[in-house]
Amino acid sequence: MTARLPADQGGLAEAARLLRAGRLVAFPTETVYGLGADATDERAVAAIFAAKRRPRFNPLIAHVPEAAAAFALGIADERARALAAALWPGPLTLVLPASPGCAVALLARAGLDTVALRVPAHPLARALLSAVGRPVAGPSANVSGRVSPTTAGHVLEELGGVIDAVLDGGPCAVGLESSVLDLSGRAAVLLRPGGATREAIESVIGPVALAEGADDAPRGPGMLASHYAPVLPLRLDASAAAPDEALLAFGPAPGGAGLTFTLSGSGDLVEAAARLFTGLRFLDAEGRRRGLLRIAAMPVPQHGLGLAINDRLRRAAAPRDHVPPSGG
Ligand code: AMP
Ligand code: MG
Repeated sequence: MTARLPADQGGLAEAARLLRAGRLVAFPTETVYGLGADATDERAVAAIFAAKRRPRFNPLIAHVPEAAAAFALGIADERARALAAALWPGPLTLVLPASPGCAVALLARAGLDTVALRVPAHPLARALLSAVGRPVAGPSANVSGRVSPTTAGHVLEELGGVIDAVLDGGPCAVGLESSVLDLSGRAAVLLRPGGATREAIESVIGPVALAEGADDAPRGPGMLASHYAPVLPLRLDASAAAPDEALLAFGPAPGGAGLTFTLSGSGDLVEAAARLFTGLRFLDAEGRRRGLLRIAAMPVPQHGLGLAINDRLRRAAAPRDHVPPSGG
């Protein structure tokens, strides 16, 4: 049962309470309705991918009520500060190097060392974010591959019964998605054109490069992000680890295994998704420290979140010079 919460103090308080409890709440922004979850909670973020039935993990935008909150999560340089002063709140997302101890879950960052941050302009969204007091991940509140919802009714048609609540702020001003600007490197790169124009951005920080394809029809989310891949090669469909391998286990781990990280001992796909990037990072770093040569990954069933988990594992296992392209 999905609650339809009114745009008043009571509705806001309930939406904030649910989000802080790790539940899913759709909320209006100036672009479309976002599917919100506590961005610091790996399981809540995994639940977003499950609700959207997304077949892959792409990095999500963390929404915060003001620039100060954003710059606690990402390392801001002069360009980021100038853009925030000029264009936030608004439809501009900044990709910054994650700060040490960045609270945004690794799953929301698709395992990357960068974090995408935005201060939305919608008054209800900002009031909600202030009340939650934590960054909120919020991709569009639709099932993967369907159109983005601009009313609470659309959200209920898409995700009714699947999410806990929708905060009903009436129709969104049908807008563009946010522009996504990558400031994690020396050159500023526009990964996705959107509500904040290239001209508006360039008037603040000077010339920005356009990512390949960013001038075409929007690419699938996540296509432009350099995907996290462990350094150690991955071997798929392993039933056990060889002596020179670390084991990424799913379900009961075989006896006698050495360095092991269990995604979910009980075979729970949401738990496994929530632990995936943490596990890959751990085995990669600790495995190399111990002189191991590979990560052996046990099979994960190909349904529900297993699709996205297997997509990520396949990419990590592919030879590095032809990683399969990620689609929409
Ligand atoms: P959406 O939330 O569906 O509007 O999509 C978020 C967009 O931000 C996608 O195009 C992502 O690829 C992009 N994005 C989010 N985080 C990062 C990141 N750390 N690096 C690069 N792109 C990102
Ligand atoms: Mg979408």
